[in-house]
Amino acid sequence: MPGSELTLASPGPDAATAAAFEALLAAVTEARPKDDLGPIRKAWEFAAQYHSGQLRVSGEPYLIHPLAVARILAEMKMDVVSIETGLLHDVVEDTSVTVADVLKHFGDEVASCVDGVTKLSKINFFSAEDRQAESYRKMLLAMTKDVRVIIVKLADRLHNMRTLGCLNEERRERIAKETLEIYAPIAHRLGMGKVRGELEDLAFQYLDPDAWADISHTIDNQRAANEEYLERMRRTVESELRREGVPARVEARVKRAYSVYQKLKKQKISLDQVYDLMALRIITDSVKNCYGALGVIHNEWRPIPGRIKDFIAIPRPNLYQSLHTSVVGPEGKHFEIQIRTEEMHRIAEEGIAAHWKYKEGRRGVQDDQRVAWLRQLVEWQQEMRDPGEFMSTLKVDLYPEEVYCFTPKGRVIALPAQASPVDFAYAVHTQVGTTCVGAKVNSRIVPLRYELQNGDVVDILTQTGHEPSKDWLSFVKTSRAKNKIKHIINANERERAIEIGQKYLEKEARRLGVQLARIQKNDLERVAAEYGLSKVEDLYASLGYGKFSARQVLQKSAPEQIAEEPVVVPAPYDPTAVSRKDDDAVITVHGVDDVMVYRAKCCNPIKGEAIVGYVTRGKGIAVHSKTCSNVQNLMYDSERKIEVDWARHASDSFPVRIVVHTDDRPGLLHQLTSILSDEKTNVRSLEAKTDISQTSDSALVEMTVDVRDKKQLEKLCSAMRRISGVRDVERIVNL
Ligand code: MN
Repeated sequence: MPGSELTLASPGPDAATAAAFEALLAAVTEARPKDDLGPIRKAWEFAAQYHSGQLRVSGEPYLIHPLAVARILAEMKMDVVSIETGLLHDVVEDTSVTVADVLKHFGDEVASCVDGVTKLSKINFFSAEDRQAESYRKMLLAMTKDVRVIIVKLADRLHNMRTLGCLNEERRERIAKETLEIYAPIAHRLGMGKVRGELEDLAFQYLDPDAWADISHTIDNQRAANEEYLERMRRTVESELRREGVPARVEARVKRAYSVYQKLKKQKISLDQVYDLMALRIITDSVKNCYGALGVIHNEWRPIPGRIKDFIAIPRPNLYQSLHTSVVGPEGKHFEIQIRTEEMHRIAEEGIAAHWKYKEGRRGVQDDQRVAWLRQLVEWQQEMRDPGEFMSTLKVDLYPEEVYCFTPKGRVIALPAQASPVDFAYAVHTQVGTTCVGAKVNSRIVPLRYELQNGDVVDILTQTGHEPSKDWLSFVKTSRAKNKIKHIINANERERAIEIGQKYLEKEARRLGVQLARIQKNDLERVAAEYGLSKVEDLYASLGYGKFSARQVLQKSAPEQIAEEPVVVPAPYDPTAVSRKDDDAVITVHGVDDVMVYRAKCCNPIKGEAIVGYVTRGKGIAVHSKTCSNVQNLMYDSERKIEVDWARHASDSFPVRIVVHTDDRPGLLHQLTSILSDEKTNVRSLEAKTDISQTSDSALVEMTVDVRDKKQLEKLCSAMRRISGVRDVERIVNL
């Protein structure tokens, strides 16, 4: 906003701005007499030098703006760093100054605050629906490491709103809307009632001038008409309280236009139906006296049932505390009364800023107290009925569990922390996720596993026809992305299985001399139904996955064409084979549940090794080590390869044969077996023999041991290799 307000004119601060600066110093001294004005002077000179000659749209020197912002902060009794930040908040945005320059001249606290305010200014809040506005607000808070950044930003916005009249209608409306949707709610959440009220009324004035004029007019009239009445009430309350020994200050107040407007909308009533435009506020010294005052009031006037609210016992989420009651006053007029302590009053008006300003000294102390304050909010939230917005928002700060990023068009996408561009892509649209081939973050290409940061602008690069990669599953964080990726991979594998199944059936039919063309479609449907499948396609898929053989299918669908089932030759006894059922539990096949799996005998893969599956005909899926020569020699159809993995939680062990070549010396065997027992390895068999093919001083030890995985095997082998006299340790795979 300020960036485009600038034009160039004569240099140097004029007398008016110089006087405004002196007034600022006076305000700082009044609010915080002990504060050092040196850094503030320095920041002023710096800002004056760089903003020199710049003008606001109103024609005033630009410097008026940072001065006014600093002044608002001084009146909030904010610390020196905040005042310096107020003076410098636009230098990075609007002049040649960099954050590094600010750091050099003003230190890291001021530099990081100025940087924070600058970043917030760069966010382009597109006119947003409610859901988006909520995300913006969350993001704004999430991006802020230091609450002072938000407070300075609110002061900045407050001054811009006060001087909004100078802008053209379109910009006025946009800024007013943004103020109402984003900044006023943030002020509210931070408990800054005064700032919130002013922001709302200013925004309301520009967004709905007619309604605003109507309501303001009515309020003014009522005030004029009721001035005497109000004053009489005030005095009565004051003297009643005095008589009861409750020290108190009593203020008459008029409701704000925007809050009246909201009441009209919420209760669907017209302006003349609002009775309590006027109200009293009692400020006393202790909680006890708050309740005392309430008693005095109720003794004097009849309370309206259902209108007594105890926000002292149950504070609002933003820490607001007060007693509220409405009574029927003299002449039957309804009347709202708020009762609170000085401390509660300060917090209601200033919110988080009230907590800020009484802290002096070291930064660590301030941060601790701020965090304590936020934590308290979070704790309260857990007791609240509406586990709302505000707390979860501030929680972002304390427990960073979400990250907020933008589309190039400025839409906010909220994701879990450590989300990747792929998560982002799927959050935008399934199609964007599916065809995602790369990503740019803040205009730079990043890897797809990049960890997104708050405020990142993410541009997803897509390519029609591209499909998700299985690797993505290892880094995506959202379940949406996970499910969509899995879905596509499953669909692809099923498609492949259908194809394989169809070919398998055709080949088998040729081999057996069955004319597939003569088998009716409804015959295949019937067979499918026999297997509990609803479609012929499912039958093909099952064939492809190796759940049953093509021969069986042919026999069932055309029994007259195939005479009898050939004799099944049982597999030879295999000492390393575990039962198929066990292998089903230790290996998962991508995209398929419920399929027979067995580890190939040729390479006997163990957990932790890279493996690949091969769809056999009728025997399920054979799992080989990726380094198995059978796989490598392309003995198999590459089409029938299928992705498999070790099941994550499988705890089975695998028998492995190991041959150890050693020197032939006494004691060595004992050393080997003690390693096996150290590693708690179960030994199935162990045999030592002299290697007859070698010279007489060498020996061989052959053993079959149970290992959990590749890692354990490697550990075992390297421990054996370290024994002096061991020449080599070899794993025997081809049994
Ligand atoms: Mn500004």
